[in-house]
Amino acid sequence: MNDIRHLRHDTKFVHHPHCPPPDGNRSLVSPIYQSAKYVASSMAHLRRLLTNREEGYIYSRISNPTVRELEDLLADLQGRDNALATASGIAALTAVAMTFLNAGDRAVIFTESYKPTRFLLGNILARFGVETIRISRNEYSAFEKICQSDHPPKLVFLESPTNPSLRIHDLDWIIKTARAASCLTVLDNTFAGFLAHGEFAIDIFVHSLTKLAGGHSDALGGMIISRKELIEKVFPVAITLGGCLDPHSAWLILRGMKTYGLRTQAASKNAHELALWLTTQPWAEKVRYPALKNHPDHELWQKQNNGDGGSAVTFELTCAESGVDIFFNSLKLFSLAPSLGCVESLAAPCLIFFGDDLPTEEARLAGITSKTVRLGIGIEHINDLKNDLISASTAANI
Ligand code: PLP
Repeated sequence: MNDIRHLRHDTKFVHHPHCPPPDGNRSLVSPIYQSAKYVASSMAHLRRLLTNREEGYIYSRISNPTVRELEDLLADLQGRDNALATASGIAALTAVAMTFLNAGDRAVIFTESYKPTRFLLGNILARFGVETIRISRNEYSAFEKICQSDHPPKLVFLESPTNPSLRIHDLDWIIKTARAASCLTVLDNTFAGFLAHGEFAIDIFVHSLTKLAGGHSDALGGMIISRKELIEKVFPVAITLGGCLDPHSAWLILRGMKTYGLRTQAASKNAHELALWLTTQPWAEKVRYPALKNHPDHELWQKQNNGDGGSAVTFELTCAESGVDIFFNSLKLFSLAPSLGCVESLAAPCLIFFGDDLPTEEARLAGITSKTVRLGIGIEHINDLKNDLISASTAANI
């Protein structure tokens, strides 16, 4: 409705003139479709909208044009034909688990995965009769054995690089072993990003958009990317669980994506240089970065990751236990915060962030001790980052 002159004030407050740009005069930046509802033009249209998401929009928990733009972009970048956005990375993982796992089913999760994913499977889904088997990246034979058993898993959840030990999974081997048991592979590709792993026959990719995609620490989001047939199975579950992505967050993430290539290249370059430098520092040991030649999975990384080592670097402090808090407290440029993949550099004490749910021995196997530090490298000048670490290590070693 454009002509509102004949309406009374109370009606005008509610029904405003619509002023979209005329044909041939589009906005350069896509607008934020900040509307929870969409209007059907007729009953026949409404019926089509309710039965076919591709037809258009009816309600933003089901789909929204701004969110759809992000879904289409990320499905394309990851090399799949469909995607479904969620309010956060963990909402994406929850929707996948709730879709494909039933009471009595088994799932496998690698110990070296995001702590809330371990909680989701080992605690929440366990209450609904799903049995989760946790195995380490170092125990591939255990995965093979479970897949060849009479009760093989329905899903395997993995990350590559793993957090925080930055191990690389042998994707071809995992896929082959899982497929032989009709087990779906779910790769949380948050650390590796949208340009990695698309050529592998992974069934479902999950991303936290809160990290590399948004890039500016101001929006939460998640994405499930797969073939159409699997997304259609997740869709009714995800929209009913209710963890949908808000259009404003989707728009912020779309804006972040415009500089994705530049940001991720700059951060990975910084991280690689910093990792090499850390190997020369007396206050750091066991530096883990997949592009380093002495990394246990360096060859796999070369084969699978197109030369991108990512923006995370993990190492152990050599100081006394009492120096660990001093190290973190003394950092000025690195912020003591979770997450990574943003323009700012962050430092995470790994045990309390990622490993305090694991028995000590399992945490150690997963590469986590009280002195393990994960750095999420941003795009600042490398020398400033090095100086910050030197000052903090000097304070910690006094
Ligand atoms: N997966 C990985 C590997 C993560 O690191 C994170 C968050 O740190 C998530 C999933 C969860 O993402 P979100 O915080 O967006 O729910």
